[in-house]
Amino acid sequence: MARTTTLHPVRPIAALLLCAGLLTGAAHAQTVVAPAAPAATAAPAATTAPAATAPSQVRKANIVIVGTGGTIAGAGASAINTAAYQSAVVPVDKIIASVPEISKVANVKGEQIFQIGSESFNNERLLKLGKRVSELLKQPDVDGVVITHGTDTIEETAYFLNLTLKSDKPVVVVGSMRPGTALGADGALNLYDAVLVASSPESKGKGTLVVLNDEIHTGRDVTKSNTFKTETFRSPFGPLGYVVEGRTLYYRLPARPHTTATEWDIDRIDRLPEVAIVYAYGNANPGSVDAAVRNGAKAIVYAGTGNGSVGEYMVEPLKAARAKGVQIVRASRTGSGVVIRNGEQPDDKYDWVVVDDQLPQKARILTALALTKTNDTRELQKILWKY
Ligand code: ASP
Repeated sequence: MARTTTLHPVRPIAALLLCAGLLTGAAHAQTVVAPAAPAATAAPAATTAPAATAPSQVRKANIVIVGTGGTIAGAGASAINTAAYQSAVVPVDKIIASVPEISKVANVKGEQIFQIGSESFNNERLLKLGKRVSELLKQPDVDGVVITHGTDTIEETAYFLNLTLKSDKPVVVVGSMRPGTALGADGALNLYDAVLVASSPESKGKGTLVVLNDEIHTGRDVTKSNTFKTETFRSPFGPLGYVVEGRTLYYRLPARPHTTATEWDIDRIDRLPEVAIVYAYGNANPGSVDAAVRNGAKAIVYAGTGNGSVGEYMVEPLKAARAKGVQIVRASRTGSGVVIRNGEQPDDKYDWVVVDDQLPQKARILTALALTKTNDTRELQKILWKY
């Protein structure tokens, strides 16, 4: 989504917030804590609240909502600004306060870690977020974590957390396509659904999840597929489940190892190696490979055409980069499907590797993690096929 700074260069953020009614209420509150959990002797939720509005559990879960920004924290100048607005301006406690229904399903606490558009995530921010979520998950009184996040790179963050968090507790990343000020805003329901999913015992052990538009996706597979529609997130084999009328419904399980079953632990990663993506297109500039190497890339994910094919004028620069020790990972710009080793290029001969079906941006995350463990091409290939 475009930011509106160019459309409304002089409009102060405070005016935007006022226009959205966001400066009223608990202006100084750092956190919003919903009413305490009912006593253990309280009647089961099913008899005190209709199933349609509360999960069927006796004790309300304690969920921390970590705010990072994005459109779910956005505000527009008018209600018709569904796609042009200022993102990352509304504090997470205000977002929580705007969905009072959440307090019926969980005890929630907000925590602001960043206030950015997700296009501004970098390795340092990814690590900082992951380490904080890891700390929260270790607290015995935290049952799950929800992260509010911009939708542009939600799939990278979710895949990263899916591979590095060492906990079975639910972690749900959520965003919205429209700011809260827009007609048809989707953030409130998405956040409510995310808290429901994070509170559900069924979500335990399913890795990092992404919840938007009534659907629950695994962080491994999900990708943003449309620039402005609310129905933009898709997974090639469909979502894991739905959230509807306050109910979390699962139909599938993630097939690949995640969280506690991976070789990475966020607490032990302090730096991620530089991995560049070079995008293929007709008449591509071979200099882009050298530029990536000069800028310190330890690996290049080549977002090739079709099945990771490489133009003849790109082969030599990629071979030269490999000769300098840079790993070459063939991926595809098509948006789905596996890349066949030794198919479009002789990977054995060139000592290159291929992705399984990871999109280039996901392959970047996995390759960077892999390089924290090994620089052996065969090991790297195994990792790309495993996760
Ligand atoms: N540019 C925004 C972001 O990713 C878009 C969104 O959140 O939908 O932060």
